Amino acid sequence: MNVILLGPPGSGKGTQSSYLVKKYKLNHISTGDILRTEISSGTKLGKQARKYMIEGNLVPDQLIIDMVSKKLKKFDSVLLDGFPRTLSQAVALDLEFSKLFMKINHVLYFDVPSDELIQRLSQRLSCRNCASTFIKSEKIVCNSKPSCKEPELYQREDDKPDAISIRMKNYTDLTAPLLDFYNDKNLMKKIDANESINQVSNQIDKIMQI
Ligand code: ADP
Ligand code: ZN
Repeated sequence: MNVILLGPPGSGKGTQSSYLVKKYKLNHISTGDILRTEISSGTKLGKQARKYMIEGNLVPDQLIIDMVSKKLKKFDSVLLDGFPRTLSQAVALDLEFSKLFMKINHVLYFDVPSDELIQRLSQRLSCRNCASTFIKSEKIVCNSKPSCKEPELYQREDDKPDAISIRMKNYTDLTAPLLDFYNDKNLMKKIDANESINQVSNQIDKIMQI
């Protein structure tokens, strides 16, 4: 099974990914996480992507398409989180899937009102080790898995106010058109992602079991 998570920044795609990957035995491909790892390892791709990411802008399509294509070849059931994010990425994905005799089963659209998104992003801290996110509060050590005890939670550069507004605008201009693209293919399933984490997981389960 191959599933795409589509939705604005802060809509909870990352949180639900951890649940879905375990439950449905999917291979998680998060383009944001891959890029952050490339940056911290100082690779050529990381160096190219960094300036776009800290501003809140999208990394050029071809870099992303090449990066994802390499990953797709390794797996037969994937959870795509953060990709595709533009129409040309979506077209490239269709082509790549057809070469690999793979198909998209569901596109889950995480719907959240935009004022709630800004609130969530500006309050969130991320784990450097496993990329889990937390609300800025009392939490000091990552407790996402028994194995992750990372003591340093940090505010992502692109969770600062200027970058948040650029990300929101890019989402509206470049990513939101994908809703029609997948709706026309009858793949789009809308999730009310303004509910609790468990309620969102339950909505997804109902769709996945169809
Ligand atoms: P969020 O969904 O919260 O914005 P991500 O971790 O998915 O965060 O992505 C962070 C950044 O990584 C994006 O703002 C962008 O710069 C880059 N990025 C991730 N995925 C893509 C993509 N498919 N195309 C272009 N840029 C991407
Ligand atoms: Zn962690």
